[in-house]
Amino acid sequence: MNPQLLDGKAASEQIRNDLRSRVEKLKLRGGPVPVLVTILVGNNPSSEVYVKMKGKACESIGLGSRKIQMPEETTTEELLKVIDECNADPTVRGILLQHPSPSQIDERAAFDRIAIDKDVDGVTAFGFGRMSLGIQAYPACTPAGIVKLLDHYKINLSGLHAVIVGRSPILGKPMAQLLLNRDCTITVCHSRTKDLPRHLQSADLVVAACGKPRYIVGDWIKEGAIVVDAGYNDGNIGDADFESCAKKASWITPVPGGVGPMTITTLIAHTVESAEKASG
Ligand code: NAP
Repeated sequence: MNPQLLDGKAASEQIRNDLRSRVEKLKLRGGPVPVLVTILVGNNPSSEVYVKMKGKACESIGLGSRKIQMPEETTTEELLKVIDECNADPTVRGILLQHPSPSQIDERAAFDRIAIDKDVDGVTAFGFGRMSLGIQAYPACTPAGIVKLLDHYKINLSGLHAVIVGRSPILGKPMAQLLLNRDCTITVCHSRTKDLPRHLQSADLVVAACGKPRYIVGDWIKEGAIVVDAGYNDGNIGDADFESCAKKASWITPVPGGVGPMTITTLIAHTVESAEKASG
């Protein structure tokens, strides 16, 4: 089979063009430039890179961005105070607390402190519940970006059997809910799943999100399956083996250039949406 590429870079560029003009319209109304705040606790070098990428993405569409860097020894109370300040600041339209935080931080308490209308990264338990029920909330950016990518290529999701490999709170679990909301039939696999290849054999749509480089191979998937690889090991290796999966798939994401760009584009899209809602 010669699969078609789900090109996240190209889709992102188109979406960003639209976002740029929406931000322009907001500015013409005379309001303040909407800001995405990223809060980084400690000095994790990969987190620094991600935060920088998010700042650049904001800049690319005319959004403001602010980085709040807090020391490694920050307490939960100190972090909650900063989140409260961002919640109260009307120019702040999105708040992103970069994961992982140092171990002394109660990360769940910190995530849940973010105001629901500024939870553009979909990390609050309240937001997750709302999203699961199909009520307005911003879903986690990677799974939401995957749905945007599939929509961009006009793939009809209704009735597909989706097998999601991974059940993390930021990826596998919200992915399952989002695809269920789009009328897929869902199987969620994880490290205790018995006979993963058997489940994958019946998948119309495979979402690889297990954090294991090139783990899902072409022999395990069925002819014509859609393969979405969320994996991002060492910055450029997917969780699926592209070469062997491409022999069977009808559609497939490249890594890099598939899911990655859609994640960041979704984050800024949520921030623009939040700014539009706030401006009435
Ligand atoms: P994670 O928190 O480590 O979760 C991995 C999940 O995979 C867990 O649910 C785990 O099961 C499951 N798993 C591990 N080994 C497995 C196996 N042999 N068979 C089946 N399932 C297995 O990872 P994550 O944060 O969800 O990230 C997943 C992947 O997406 C990683 O490659 C990460 O780099 C990538 N990612 C990409 C983006 C992006 O923007 N492109 C964003 C976030 C993450 P248990 O629950 O049983 O442990």
